[in-house]
Formats: sequence, C-alpha cells, structure tokens
Amino acid sequence: MERPEIPLWPRRDVRFIDSHMHLDPPEDISGVARSVSSEAVLVVCGVDRRTSEGAVAASAAYPWTVYPFVGLHPSEAEKDKDLSWIAPMLELAKGLGEIGLDPSYSPTGEGSAQLNAFRFQLQAAEAARVPVQVHSRGAEAQVMEVLGSFRTGPLLMHWLESEDVLPAVVRRGYFVSFSPALLYSKKLQRLARRCDPAFTLVESDSPVAYAPLGGVHGPALVPSVAFGLAEIWGISPVEAISVTSANALRYLGADSKG
Ligand SMILES: [Zn+2]
Repeated sequence: MERPEIPLWPRRDVRFIDSHMHLDPPEDISGVARSVSSEAVLVVCGVDRRTSEGAVAASAAYPWTVYPFVGLHPSEAEKDKDLSWIAPMLELAKGLGEIGLDPSYSPTGEGSAQLNAFRFQLQAAEAARVPVQVHSRGAEAQVMEVLGSFRTGPLLMHWLESEDVLPAVVRRGYFVSFSPALLYSKKLQRLARRCDPAFTLVESDSPVAYAPLGGVHGPALVPSVAFGLAEIWGISPVEAISVTSANALRYLGADSKG
C-alpha cells in the first residue's frame, strides 16, 4: 500500500498539539475539528481495526489537523486475534497506538492475547521505525520489561500513573503525556514535578470525560493541561504550550520538516 501524500508539518502557526485522543464514533471528525481552534493538531489513535481506519480516513479529510496512529488497544486484544491488518495499515499512518498491557481487561501473562498483540505490534513498529503510544495502567513494570527488548521509533508512555517506573522511563528517553486529570490528581502532579520538561507532552484522551472538572472532554482542554504544567514547573503558560508543542513535534519526527 502506498503512503498518501500528507504534508508532514506544513504549519508554523500551531498553538497546541493534543498528543493522544480518539474519535468517537471513529467516523466523526467534524465535531472534533469544530471544537478546537484551527491551529490545533490532533494525534488520533485507533483502538482496533475500525477506529484505526477511522483515524486514517480523518487524516485524509483533515491532513493539516490529524496525525493518524493505528493499533490494537489492550481492551480489544481478546476480541480481535487477527493482527494481519496492522502492518499494512501502519503504512498509511504516522505511528502505532494505542497499544500496551492492562490487566483490568484480560490476563497479560505469557501466552495471553494481550501480550501476544503487544509484542506483535512492537515488532511491526520496529520494522517501520514509527513513533509508538503505550498504555501501561496497572502493568507498568511488565510494559517496561517488554519494551526493553524492542527498538522502535520515539516512544510515548501515555497517561503514565506509576512513579516507580519513572526513573527508567526518563533514562530510556521515553516521552510522558499528561491528561486533564493533572488538574486535580495529586499523584499526577507529583509525577509531573519529577518529569523532564523536555520529554513531556499534553493530551485529552478524548472522548474520556473528566467528572471532577464537571464532565468536560475533548481536545479544547489541552491548553489547560499545559497551564497546569506551567504552574508545577514554575514557567509561564505560553512557555509551557510552546515547550510541550515542540516536544510533540520532536516525538512525531516532524520538527525539522516543512
Ligand atoms: Zn487513549
């Protein structure tokens, strides 16, 4: 399959980048595109075949706005054991995700569908050398162990919650992203304080809704996350937006192009 001609980074006026979100339903990009300023860039992740196709289709419709990532989420691993679509679809995408391990959905031990899918997809990412987005909730140590045997492109630990693995995450040069939960979670605020600002990104994980913030959701929350980081790091909000956007471009491999 041929990679479509999507300009990698044509814009110099970008204000913020939502580094991790999903379309819901996968066909509906119009609402998301309307809900944010035209300067936003959205990294849209798949969780299964249908949503991965949706992310690729959304980038064809909005090439200046959408960076499509494709992959099989840990929640879907038991439902879809046919992984043959992943490598060809990766050819049409900018990266692999959302992939990972999460014992709250199904087992993650040796021989499990989750672990097989995670390893299979990391192999594909190794071959394609694309950026990867990893979900690690409740399996952080195991995820770090598995990742240790693969050489992928730049790696993002999306919505990382474990302080235990943070030293290894920093040592390996993985990126970490914060969701709007940063604005009320003391644990995430502690984590952010220990993160390297040069490897920190911001995300909405849309369509996740944040009850403590009144049930809001969507990429328009992303500047607020950067403002939260600004407070924690003791820098200005504008600086925080600019730093996290530059980090996202580096992560996406788009910082030297366009
Ligand atoms: Zn997600």
